[in-house]
Amino acid sequence: MATSLRTPWRAALDSDGDLQRKLAEQRMHSEQLRLLGSAVHVASEGIAIMTPAVEAVGPRIAFVNDGFCVMYGHRRDDVIGQTPEIFGIVQRNQVIYDSLLQHVFEGRPFDAESTARRASGTEFELDLRLVPVENDGQVTHWVAFLRDVTEARHQVASLRHQAMHDGLTALPNRLLFIEALEEAIAKAGEQTGMMVALMLMDLDRFKDVNDTFGHQFGDALLKQVAFRLQNQKTEGDVIARLGGDEFAVLIPVLADQQAAANSARRILNTLEQPFVIERQVLEVGASIGIALFPEHGPDGRTLLRRADVAMYAAKQKQSGYSFHQEDREAPHGDDLSLIVELRSAIERGELTPYYQPKLHMRTGIMTRVEVLLRWDHPVRGQLPPTSFIPLAERTGLIRSVTDVMLNQVLAQCRAWQDEGAPIHVAVNISARSLLDQALPGKIQAALERWSIDPRFLKVEITESSIMADPSHALAILSMLQSMGVRLSVDDFGTGYSSLTHLRELPIDEVKIDKSFVQGMSTSDADAAIVRTIIDLGHNLGKQVCAEGVEDQVTWNMLRDLGCDLAQGFWMARPMPAHELMEWLVETSWGLQLLKR
Ligand code: C2E
Ligand code: CA
Ligand code: CA
Repeated sequence: MATSLRTPWRAALDSDGDLQRKLAEQRMHSEQLRLLGSAVHVASEGIAIMTPAVEAVGPRIAFVNDGFCVMYGHRRDDVIGQTPEIFGIVQRNQVIYDSLLQHVFEGRPFDAESTARRASGTEFELDLRLVPVENDGQVTHWVAFLRDVTEARHQVASLRHQAMHDGLTALPNRLLFIEALEEAIAKAGEQTGMMVALMLMDLDRFKDVNDTFGHQFGDALLKQVAFRLQNQKTEGDVIARLGGDEFAVLIPVLADQQAAANSARRILNTLEQPFVIERQVLEVGASIGIALFPEHGPDGRTLLRRADVAMYAAKQKQSGYSFHQEDREAPHGDDLSLIVELRSAIERGELTPYYQPKLHMRTGIMTRVEVLLRWDHPVRGQLPPTSFIPLAERTGLIRSVTDVMLNQVLAQCRAWQDEGAPIHVAVNISARSLLDQALPGKIQAALERWSIDPRFLKVEITESSIMADPSHALAILSMLQSMGVRLSVDDFGTGYSSLTHLRELPIDEVKIDKSFVQGMSTSDADAAIVRTIIDLGHNLGKQVCAEGVEDQVTWNMLRDLGCDLAQGFWMARPMPAHELMEWLVETSWGLQLLKR
């Protein structure tokens, strides 16, 4: 109840207390003002206080702090009473100054960046903010905050430059290129009849150069390529390095398709001249894929993809350059993205070798494994080789696939040998790789790299790919044979090869195609074919391997026919390296040297 006791003297005391409090508040307020005042004075930022615009009379400077004087090199006395022209906004930014005045007359805050001039005449980048100070709805003052952002702008500009350019060649990078491409498309889209050309280019033997001479050498080559491209470009074109040995050219204004072709030919010509690096003379070709806006696609993404496919077509045909073609991709939109993805899959190591045992029929011992690739696709899951090898062959990517596979497999082979398991490996080489003159050299290099005796490697080539160009195949196969690598004809029976060819070829093994093997227990015709191939192979002094053995009946039949080797799901499916080891330990099939 004590709170309700309000005696007069108590009230007097209260009002006295109020007075005390009010005095204290006022003291604090003026103290705060003084503090604020000196803070404003010493702030490194420029601060100016202006009177408001009244009718026709514009705003006038009433106060500036030290920061302002330092920033502009003006004396305070020279500034007071001046119009905002004293902010030094340069003539060429007149619109900014006009807008400033308009905002002030309308009583609205203003924010802008402009180039400004100091008393000395030098220029700097000014960040200017104007805020009205109101009292009872009336603007009583304007406070201007001014900052010199020259340094910050430079930093932003240089960071942007760094982020948008390739460190090695100083050319624009993919980011900047795509920006320029989108911009050119947007511009061309506004006018009918305007064309834009996008060219993607990739050096033909760059990987070999890198492998043979080292990365520094490769870098030097890329720089020279960039230099030549820059030198032959026309004003307005954008040349970029997209990564690795991939370059791109954007022609934002194009007369016709012929002009793009001419440009591509010019680029190819400049690159055909030999390069001289560290006193080595080097010849590097290139392949160019071209896509045109609007004819070949409505946006940058589509054009890039199509130019990419066209580039592989050019590589494949060895035609130098190639335009996007509807039929090349139309039926398989899916394939198209796969091609693009396969390129990075190779680099990211998404291709995994699986190993399927080949067993010696008389002893049940595993003599070797066949390498069968799998693609661990991050979205589509594991893909079988039939879904990407033909694609890789069509686009020329098969070379990289083969290179990567060989290295992975021989590394595995080395690891097995180091563990005391001398497992032989058989790899599949496709028709296109067989036509690659560099193949024997690559195999040799990989064998040496992993110190693998060539006899541990068998190369399986399908009968049909040999028949595609028998004399060439014979040359490459002979070379491989002389290196000590073993050779096998795959899918035998499906390729209509003449028996004379089989006799001429330096091969060690014939593999009966699985379609005959799978049919032999139910079809007399298939059984007869299998028997014939086994006899034929033996008469020519070759080993015979049956693939696709899915049951014991087939195994027994083959064994009775004298077939040497067998491979199939009944014994073992293709599996990753670590599972192969478990399989070897767990099953009754054995590994020759492990069991001893
Ligand atoms: P291929 O060389 O004829 O390989 C044998 C195929 O038969 C493999 O299919 C294998 O998994 C499968 N197979 C093995 N045993 C049986 C069986 O008992 N029953 C049945 N139904 N199938 C069996 P996969 O792994 O799908 O490979 C398909 C083809 O892809 C291979 O045929 C080969 O031509 C190609 N390939 C695989 N890896 C590579 C590679 O690294 N490079 C190249 N160029 N081609 C490869
Ligand atoms: Ca094979
Ligand atoms: Ca086969």
